[in-house]
Amino acid sequence: MYDAAIIGGGPAGQSAALFTGKAGLKTLLLDNEKGLTKRALLRNHYGVKEITGSDLVAAGRKQAESAGAEIIKAQVTLVSKEKDGFRIETENGETFEARQVILATGSNQKLAQTIGLKTKDGQEKYVKTVIDTDPAGHTSVDGIWAAGVAAGVSVHTIVTSGDGAKTAINLISEQKGERYVNHDAIPAK
Ligand SMILES: Cc1cc2nc3c(=O)[nH]c(=O)nc-3n(C[C@H](O)[C@H](O)[C@H](O)COP(=O)(O)OP(=O)(O)OC[C@H]3O[C@@H](n4cnc5c(N)ncnc54)[C@H](O)[C@@H]3O)c2cc1C
Repeated sequence: MYDAAIIGGGPAGQSAALFTGKAGLKTLLLDNEKGLTKRALLRNHYGVKEITGSDLVAAGRKQAESAGAEIIKAQVTLVSKEKDGFRIETENGETFEARQVILATGSNQKLAQTIGLKTKDGQEKYVKTVIDTDPAGHTSVDGIWAAGVAAGVSVHTIVTSGDGAKTAINLISEQKGERYVNHDAIPAK
């Protein structure tokens, strides 16, 4: 059983996986590798002069993996409630179990609608529907969270990656029963 399963491996999902992995949560990230961020040329991501979307996503994947996240290529078709968490099913018939789930599926809300999550109209260009969340990232189903474009935030990598981190921090805090902060500092000389 994973502590956290993240569906969608764009900036929001990878950033969430980095935080949950680094917090010691057994983390699974499932992504179909059809993300469009790969086509972007980013010149507005804070701290980085210029980077291609494909380089950003490749670096994010490595970083999440080195924090302990397991990343599997898969098209998720269903998430259903079980006694202690959720059962996740993929197009190829694989199943996974996780205590909590984050949907970071970008602009496509097909999975959220199949699960029966409450959705609402999107405000961003090209994003018709988003998952209805509270400010913490909780959806209408307890234990399922949403982050990034899927949760209706501005369609920019700095925002979506930050939103993935925010949602993960809230999930980690709930699982640990105390507010989670993760700071590393340069060792004193
Ligand atoms: C051509 C282009 C140029 C851009 N230029 C910029 C720019 O200059 N600056 C900027 O800040 N932003 C830019 N963006 C926008 C930016 O890439 C996105 O807004 C942002 O990265 C979205 O992040 P996300 O993680 O929320 O969603 P996404 O990056 O869309 O990631 C969602 C992931 O989930 C996967 N997925 C969906 N459903 C499932 C499922 N059922 N099972 C498994 N996987 C699933 C998707 O295929 C995708 O890989 C650009 C986008 C494009 C397309």
